[in-house]
Amino acid sequence: MTPRPRLIVGNWKMHKTIPEAVGLVEQLAKHLRREPAAPGPPPAQLEIVVAPPFTALAAVASTLATHGLLVGTEGGTSRPGPPSVELAAQDMHWEDAGAYTGEVSPLMLKDLGCRYVIVGHSERRRYFGETDATVRKKVLAALRHGLRPILCVGETWDQRTRNQTESVLAAQLTEALTGVDKDQGTEVVIAYEPIWAIGSGHPATPPQAREAHRHIRARITALWGQETGERVPILYGGSVTAENIGELLAIRDVDGALVGGACLDPAQFARILVVAGSATA
Ligand code: PEP
Repeated sequence: MTPRPRLIVGNWKMHKTIPEAVGLVEQLAKHLRREPAAPGPPPAQLEIVVAPPFTALAAVASTLATHGLLVGTEGGTSRPGPPSVELAAQDMHWEDAGAYTGEVSPLMLKDLGCRYVIVGHSERRRYFGETDATVRKKVLAALRHGLRPILCVGETWDQRTRNQTESVLAAQLTEALTGVDKDQGTEVVIAYEPIWAIGSGHPATPPQAREAHRHIRARITALWGQETGERVPILYGGSVTAENIGELLAIRDVDGALVGGACLDPAQFARILVVAGSATA
């Protein structure tokens, strides 16, 4: 089996004005240039994605390009030299256009150069009434437009203590992925984000993450078959730091991370990337 590429996504949430966003990227560029490449053979493949707020996407793209860090500009994932970064949006509407005040369409994200879009983040489910049905429409719309959806799933602490983790994950996956065929499946990214771990400083333990990721892999394999199921990246999200990323990435079915708070600190995000580029599963 070809190893799955490592994927690290920084979710900036509702942080950073345009000048602040540019400053963060400038700092990140500095750190990426300074961080030593890990000794030994180059990593299989490390994909880096940043998800700034909508308002800062254009400025972040042009700052990354200025530093040769945007995918398609200088740089590239093979050593030596700094890696390339892709852009993600944190959400989108499923329609191409229409009377949906305040919404942003997949076409608009494509315009801005986005390759990924986060879909169904628990904060959107919790505060903005996102349901599995709307998440599904967004997943399908993303795929129709050549955007890779990063589908977030995860249980509450209450559900975990009631032994419902697997059934919650199964239901979220089934409902969000119905109608996605196995050819499209290879474009989907799943992010396991236990809600109780997000922003809490208490990540899932390696055994908890291992169990949940194994279960997610089994579900998508049942849905799309072995070949596609093995190719889908499954990210872990929830209080990831430079200190704990190594042990999480050492788990077989953990292919990367969705990083919230820690990605707002460019030095720490750069360290996360270095560990991700060198840790072996
Ligand atoms: C997130 O909200 O996607 C997240 C993982 O946040 P944090 O890393 O801050 O827990």
